[in-house]
Amino acid sequence: MTRAYNFSAGPATLPEAVLRQAQAEMLDWNGVGASIVELSHRGAEFMAVAAQAEADLRALMSIPDDYAVLFMQGGATTQQALLALNFAAPGQRADYVVTGHWSKTAIKQARPYVDVHVVADGEAGGFRDIPPRAQWALSPGAAYVHITANETIHGVEYRGAPDVGGAPLFADFSSSIASEPIDVSKYGLIYAGAQKNLGPVGISVVIVRRELLERAGQPRADIFTYASHAARDSMLNTPPTWNWYLLGLTVRWMLEQGGVEEFARRNAAKAALVYQAIDASGGFYRNEVAPAVRSRMNIPFFLPDEALTARFVAESREAGLLALKGHKAVGGLRASLYNAMPLEGVQALVDFMADFQRRHG
Ligand code: PMP
Repeated sequence: MTRAYNFSAGPATLPEAVLRQAQAEMLDWNGVGASIVELSHRGAEFMAVAAQAEADLRALMSIPDDYAVLFMQGGATTQQALLALNFAAPGQRADYVVTGHWSKTAIKQARPYVDVHVVADGEAGGFRDIPPRAQWALSPGAAYVHITANETIHGVEYRGAPDVGGAPLFADFSSSIASEPIDVSKYGLIYAGAQKNLGPVGISVVIVRRELLERAGQPRADIFTYASHAARDSMLNTPPTWNWYLLGLTVRWMLEQGGVEEFARRNAAKAALVYQAIDASGGFYRNEVAPAVRSRMNIPFFLPDEALTARFVAESREAGLLALKGHKAVGGLRASLYNAMPLEGVQALVDFMADFQRRHG
């Protein structure tokens, strides 16, 4: 069996070692005579798996003790609604920076509950840049300021946390969590669906400064209340145990590989290969994102026309390079280079790009 290189934006490629371990443990986890998915979430076995995953994630990301780590269902999109319900009073203002598709999703989910104020919007410029911090019109008394750390579709990424003054900074790190060191203390809250850098879809991570959990927010069910999830170690109801277990294996693998410093180095090298291939193609391949904010995780790029794009997708698939078709919102092509994508996969991609240009350029 040969595994293809999978450039999917998410659910995305997982480390082969993780898949093999899950396969080996599928029928009999740790000699208990049952799969981990068949055991109660309240039993000693799963409780140990869950606690280890949290401890490993805390170590991987250097998460300070005054932050709670929650394992949630509903994906990143659900968190986008819960942020507003948990941390803003009814109709209170919340500031949003719009840098692409996923910033807009965050606003859509929060709008029923807060007075959304767009402090800066990159849409007029085609989301090719992040509006400079100096131009953001922050609101006094905002419940929080929301940014999208990495735009999975438009391929723009912040370099470090912007200083937003008094209001806590909330960031959607779905597509770049654990891809490099992050100073967690600069954020009030970080959230991410797991299905890119942390493992499987079906579980999301919320890292939140504990004092924020004391905010009243607005009327909501207990199941939508982060403080309740925190008080019950994310076991307010039956958690997605399989996903939590796979996340734990993935985080452990990242630690064993050398942690976020090592992934920062690898990810920079991988992204540089692809951007060089694009920029050296004489305009055959195009990526128009401002170099200072080009994403290391998701690289959208474009060919001269639709017919060539379709051909690229078909031929690359034949060559064992999967899921390079761009998101329908922007078209073209996209290569996602998460932590589990090896350098050899990226080398195979740029070799294919050069060969494709020779044949069709
Ligand atoms: N935010 C970002 C940056 C994303 O990339 C995605 C999914 N691709 C989402 C939010 C939505 O995540 P989910 O599908 O887990 O709700």
